[in-house]
Amino acid sequence: MSLLFALFAVNWVFFACHAAPTGQCKATRNTATSYSGFQIWSITPHSQSEQTALFKIIKNYKLEIWKETKELDDPVDIMVPPRVQKEVRQKLKEAKLPYDIEILDLQKEIKNENPIVNASASTRNAAHQMDWTRYHRLDDIYGYLKYLADTYPCHVQLINIGTSYEGRPLYVVHISNSTSAHTPAIWIDGTFHAREWISPAVVTYIIQQLVEDPANLKLLQNVDWYIMPVVNPDGYEYSHVSSRLWRKTRSPSEVESGRCQGVDPNRNFDFKWGGAGSSSNPCSQVYKGPKAFSEPETLAYANFISSISYKTKLYLTLHSSGQKIMLPWGYDRIVPHNFDEMLALAQNAACKFKLFNYKVGNKVDLLYRASGNSADWAASIGIEYVYSVELPIRGFVLPASNIIPVSQDFFRAMDVFADKVSTLTVVVK
Ligand SMILES: [Zn+2]
Repeated sequence: MSLLFALFAVNWVFFACHAAPTGQCKATRNTATSYSGFQIWSITPHSQSEQTALFKIIKNYKLEIWKETKELDDPVDIMVPPRVQKEVRQKLKEAKLPYDIEILDLQKEIKNENPIVNASASTRNAAHQMDWTRYHRLDDIYGYLKYLADTYPCHVQLINIGTSYEGRPLYVVHISNSTSAHTPAIWIDGTFHAREWISPAVVTYIIQQLVEDPANLKLLQNVDWYIMPVVNPDGYEYSHVSSRLWRKTRSPSEVESGRCQGVDPNRNFDFKWGGAGSSSNPCSQVYKGPKAFSEPETLAYANFISSISYKTKLYLTLHSSGQKIMLPWGYDRIVPHNFDEMLALAQNAACKFKLFNYKVGNKVDLLYRASGNSADWAASIGIEYVYSVELPIRGFVLPASNIIPVSQDFFRAMDVFADKVSTLTVVVK
């Protein structure tokens, strides 16, 4: 075991991208939400009664869960606002539930996660602003995609598939070495959930490797790649300028008296929409929306993938965090007919990772039910290999120095996926 791996394995706590319905943080109009004094606590129930007591406290104080698990002896991580810390501490004490403080002051973590760019030392005169030493705003990401399309016109095509609620373009990059309609394709996306900043960082890293590193040209042999780094651009921008922990889209609630905005795009798909693991409450972090595909982002996404579904053989959607490769179905504890083939390929891919051990399995077994999620929809339209990935390392607020190790490690799986997909046959209808 390398020292690097040992450090990762021992010291980092892994948080799932789940959140309970809450609205705890106050933001003054036109100012960013402050998480000053907010803490992340980790509690490990060892019995069913302890687990029940813990979730009762979470529910009573409307605490946001950062890492959910159903297994005993596995820690649950929660965000505790300063105004209830004293009471929650007392309730945990009464329930004989000890806790560890994982993050002492969330605002300090947020302040330190992204390096400040020195304008004089920036690459302002360069063709693009993108690198993988910090988290980038949408303009930098889109600027990089345009740069690639301009610079590598034989391999890269930038496709505008629609417009977000707030009017931002939705871009897919098509990377290909072929003009054949029979070339099997891989779909990859990121940033369904705005606050999961490591997701677009890893997805753009994959694009960079496929396009700009000649050593990876082999991955384009009989494989087309369609990659969408930012599915939810409105939420992503909002998470940068207004509320770091924003998760959903930015469409207004249809409930007249509602103060809550946004739909969980990963509960908004038209397959088992509205079932377990989604909410009808517009203030919930897992709000399913007023109807399936109510969001322009999910509708454009589904329309585009449907148009290439005849040749799309493998689907990857990247979230954070939890260090898991999850297979359908997510709406219930059942598996698709080709689960074993899907599982074997994911296990082969996970074997390639050197820094992080990903768990591989059915989504409901590894995480929770999530009806109306995009991966279930992708499997429902016939894509053979469908994976929803929770990238590694703790929580949503992750120092940018982690981008490169997480990206490099995950990219190793692309060899396995491309090898498999290149052997599959496309039937043109
Ligand atoms: Zn997510």
